[in-house]
Amino acid sequence: PNSAPYIGRFAPSPTGPLHLGSLYTALASYLDARQHKGLWLLRIDDLDTPRNMPGASDDILNCLQSFGLHWDGEVDYQSQHLDQYQQTIVELQNQHKLYPCTCSRSLLANSTLIYPGHCRTKAQSTNAPHALRVKTADISMRFVDGLQGEITQNLAREHGDFIVKRKDGIIAYQLACVVDDQRQAVNRVVRGYDLLDSTPKQQYLQHLLGYPSPLYMHIPLIVDSEGNKLSKQTRAEAANPNQAGPTLFLLLTLLKQNPPPDLRLAAIDSILEWAIEHWQTERLTNTQAVSALQHN
Ligand code: GLU
Ligand code: ZN
Repeated sequence: PNSAPYIGRFAPSPTGPLHLGSLYTALASYLDARQHKGLWLLRIDDLDTPRNMPGASDDILNCLQSFGLHWDGEVDYQSQHLDQYQQTIVELQNQHKLYPCTCSRSLLANSTLIYPGHCRTKAQSTNAPHALRVKTADISMRFVDGLQGEITQNLAREHGDFIVKRKDGIIAYQLACVVDDQRQAVNRVVRGYDLLDSTPKQQYLQHLLGYPSPLYMHIPLIVDSEGNKLSKQTRAEAANPNQAGPTLFLLLTLLKQNPPPDLRLAAIDSILEWAIEHWQTERLTNTQAVSALQHN
């Protein structure tokens, strides 16, 4: 994969404006792509319609622009590819890899996080509302993460059969992401550590569908003073475009890039230029989280 031109992407969900945590991931994937003279694509993960917030997509685009994080090509919206996801579902069904799951939330609440496979041996079709699960294999999935090193997981034992289409008809993130990365020819993925656990599932789907796997790098998350991931749930503040320069500087500090102090008040284009030139993933600690400094 090293000889192919680098194609990276940032794929935010439009559940709210970008906050420091999401901007941190955006910046890392942007810098990695730009340093490799690669493409940096933007995809809006808007399939989970109940969680979408009106106006959030446009807010995200404006925010990225005002921080100088310009993407290549057209913005890709998942909601415009529903046919393609459905075709992929049919492809997996034809391989006999999917089965309907009618389990209720309360039934599953009594079991562990690993789906115990109640529905695996039931009828292949049902009129009851159901999710679709993919049959996982009892084999070790292995990949080498660009930062976290070798990761090995047994999907059947550690996750169980996972959902590719939800009971409410919404295509699950794991399937959508695999179809999207393939459609956009993404070959390098830089994203947050919270998605490390998704990668073996996505690689399993890529394997079933005959898609190549991108190279992955999962970077530490920013956490607040209580150790929680910054997110809408923890009421992380929206990134402030009027403070773009100092915010970029702070993010470079959190990314352990040691920006020179006088860069803090430089123009955003100069900050980004410095950052692209000096980007070193070796400086990122391969831990799960970095703590956000107090900033104003
Ligand atoms: N939309 C996903 C999220 O915001 C990111 C998906 C990805 O980078 O693979 O968590
Ligand atoms: Zn079930």
